[in-house]
Amino acid sequence: MSENYNRLFKRELEKIKGRPTLLLHVCCAPCSVYPLVLLNKYFKIVIYYENPNIYSYDEYAKRLGELERYLDHLNTDMKLVIPPYDDDYQEGLKKYGPMKEGGKRCVYCYGKRMKRSYDYAAKNGFDYFTTVMSISNHKNADYINRLGKMIAKGKTKYLFADFKKDRGIDINNKMNRELDLYHQDYCGCIYTYKVSQSKKKT
Ligand code: SF4
Repeated sequence: MSENYNRLFKRELEKIKGRPTLLLHVCCAPCSVYPLVLLNKYFKIVIYYENPNIYSYDEYAKRLGELERYLDHLNTDMKLVIPPYDDDYQEGLKKYGPMKEGGKRCVYCYGKRMKRSYDYAAKNGFDYFTTVMSISNHKNADYINRLGKMIAKGKTKYLFADFKKDRGIDINNKMNRELDLYHQDYCGCIYTYKVSQSKKKT
């Protein structure tokens, strides 16, 4: 049975003093809308856009542009860090190839982006790191949180979370509709891109 990650999240919030620093991995604007507003009450946030899984580069840039648009709208002091787009990333996914979303390829993909985010957070002395990805119904919150726990071995703590809980997904969806954000129709990699293209043809 998986842990109640939302309960662990709330317990951690009860423990924090002041406004600790949080390195937040953000995959796209639509998934970050509610988590950013929620977390900003407790943490000093730096956003890390580590998403070389997105095929193509134009799509990666489009999603980044939409995230920047949302941050402008929020008018906050949150900093956005954009690591270089890694052309070789898609090569790593090739060893898994086409398979249903949520399988081994995705576990590899979540873990790789989270590990890179953690490395940046640890190197720069952040108190916490986490990812917004658990907001998505397409992503496995149990895998994500287990990976976060495994990855965070140093002083930077992993912040357990399941942002879809406590009606988080409903709030996020409502905010998305109000903001009229660009909402991509595939997760990111070339495999999900191909599936979305074939659905359009049928
Ligand atoms: S479906 Fe999404 S999470 Fe899974 S491998 Fe592709 S880009 Fe990564």
